[in-house]
Amino acid sequence: MGLTIKEILDEEEYTRENINKLLKSTGEDRTLLFKKSSEIKEKYIGKKVWFRGLIEFSNICSKDCLYCGIRKGNTNLTRYNLSDDEILTAAKFAFDNRYGSIALQSGELESPFVATRIENLLYKIKELSNGELGVTLSVGEQEPEIYKKWYDAGAHRYLLRVEATNQSLYNKIHPNDSKHDFNRRMKCLKNLQNIGYQTGTGVMIGLPFQTMDDLAGDLLFMKEFNIDMCGMGPYIEHADTPLIEHSEQLMPLKDRFDLTLKMIAIIRIMMLDINIVAATALQAIDAIGREKAVKIGANILMPNITPGKYRDSYKLYDNKPCTDDSAEDCQSCLEARVSLADAEVIYGEWGDSKHYSDRRGI
Ligand code: SAM
Repeated sequence: MGLTIKEILDEEEYTRENINKLLKSTGEDRTLLFKKSSEIKEKYIGKKVWFRGLIEFSNICSKDCLYCGIRKGNTNLTRYNLSDDEILTAAKFAFDNRYGSIALQSGELESPFVATRIENLLYKIKELSNGELGVTLSVGEQEPEIYKKWYDAGAHRYLLRVEATNQSLYNKIHPNDSKHDFNRRMKCLKNLQNIGYQTGTGVMIGLPFQTMDDLAGDLLFMKEFNIDMCGMGPYIEHADTPLIEHSEQLMPLKDRFDLTLKMIAIIRIMMLDINIVAATALQAIDAIGREKAVKIGANILMPNITPGKYRDSYKLYDNKPCTDDSAEDCQSCLEARVSLADAEVIYGEWGDSKHYSDRRGI
């Protein structure tokens, strides 16, 4: 007989076997897991939540990930690329509204033009905010020199989801070619960490072909890699993607949602003080999904401040929420929601990962 959930939760380190058990917990056991993760969050982070104003500045992508609505091969959407002015106006909105940080996200493009454009934008964002606005980048795989340039220009956090740490699963959800190379993605993550970024990663939960043990492996990878930030969310199908063919083998959405909450709770307990995002995809399944995530361990929310007319075209999955809200709507809605989760939005602060400063001895 193995340990009970209560005994597992009291262990210093979680084994793969025990993580599997936690992921499968139900009823009172599940309640115990969430109780412990909320306590850890309260102890190491407090009731605080920080905003990252999310600017989805382009849906143009050179990759063809089999799950993603903005994949190159999807011709059923309008491609857009915000002008520099539009991006800077959104950044100014974030600054004027005392969001501590913004997150710039787009499809993946590697070119000298894109690299220089982002570098220049970073300098301008720092200038318009007197250096006060924190910046997270999430623009995919790049060469280390490019990451370094952007770091020097003021980006200090980078989110690059590995999507799945089991290479054979990774290969099933991506085309098998050099543009979708598992080892390169891992290498990019390492390069980001070596350069000095607060480094974030995560996976999708409830993918076709994914097992509970894969998810346990994902959590162990994140701990072992010593990430500073975690962004993971449920996989949600998109009708215009190849993975839609495997929808019949998916678990129901509400189970993917529940499993995501458990993943968040377990990583909070395993890593104590990292920053954890309450992903927008949670809200696509449950109207108060992000608030539930905040209650059990997440401490970062990403209000969408992309100009409204473009939001409909950044559809990574079906039923993406809030695509017709304005940035102002998004803020007041989130603020009310956060207080429902018994937490408080902290304005005017970066809300950096405590884990990062401890890890670096800062
Ligand atoms: N291209 C950049 C990268 O991969 O780092 C950032 C943009 S990418 C669209 C952002 C994230 O969206 C991906 O890392 C992936 O996890 C998530 N995503 C894409 N399709 C999804 C889907 N169908 N369901 C849930 N999340 C999805």
